[in-house]
Amino acid sequence: MPTPFTFINAAMSIDGKISTRQRRQIRISGDTDFDRMDQLRASCDAVMVGIGTVLADDPSLTVKSDERRSKRLEKGLDENPVRIVVDSKARIPKNADIFRKGAGKRIVAVSESAAFDRVKALRKNVMVIMAGKDQVDLPELLSILDEMGIQRLMVEGGASLNWGLVKNGLVDEIYSFIGNLIIGGSTAPTLIDGEGFDEADIPACSLIDAEKMEEGVLLKWKINND
Ligand code: NAP
Repeated sequence: MPTPFTFINAAMSIDGKISTRQRRQIRISGDTDFDRMDQLRASCDAVMVGIGTVLADDPSLTVKSDERRSKRLEKGLDENPVRIVVDSKARIPKNADIFRKGAGKRIVAVSESAAFDRVKALRKNVMVIMAGKDQVDLPELLSILDEMGIQRLMVEGGASLNWGLVKNGLVDEIYSFIGNLIIGGSTAPTLIDGEGFDEADIPACSLIDAEKMEEGVLLKWKINND
């Protein structure tokens, strides 16, 4: 089944953590990396996060640069890429910043386990895609997004969604900024959590690029999924 070109973009500490053990967002990168991330967002058809990230950070996922938003409009696109939340049980709060801030389409991907009333309430304001029984079926979701014309998908975490996508061979590239701090903690989320691969299934990756940026380094990896 065809799926969009999909990449994960994340900022992590020297020890691979993407937030604190309290799952509190922490500034890992500087202005240069924020601007690079904004440029990436502006270049995509859609950006995706897991419900854990919405509940922890309440991101708006909008394009911050006026110039980039204007350029998108000139091309006949919405100011912001489609914003997608992967949320099996439709737990997303009504007043989440993703809903309140910025123009453009929003999609909440739920599973059949979501309460009917919650799904009905969501459908009043946003598009809802149902895929999977207990949890969102990510291969099915990405195939639906592909059919909708989403060709370039940016994933902005968190740890569990990243794992779900990588496990299913759905991620083409990973861009990780490694900042100059150590967070520590065995329960602090890492770039990719979940249950982890067995040795035989670990996918090989090729380094595309490594660039020193401010006080850290930006690594770009291609995952060899075949
Ligand atoms: P997450 O990955 O954002 O969301 C995970 C949730 O997605 C799951 O608990 C699950 O909840 C839902 N989900 C639905 N279908 C899924 C599937 N097939 N596979 C995986 N998940 C699925 O949450 P997280 O792991 O708790 O990560 C959040 C943390 O990451 C926060 O602390 C945040 O600050 C941090 N973060 C850091 C960065 C960074 O770049 N530094 C970026 C983003 C987030 P349901 O079963 O209820 O649907």
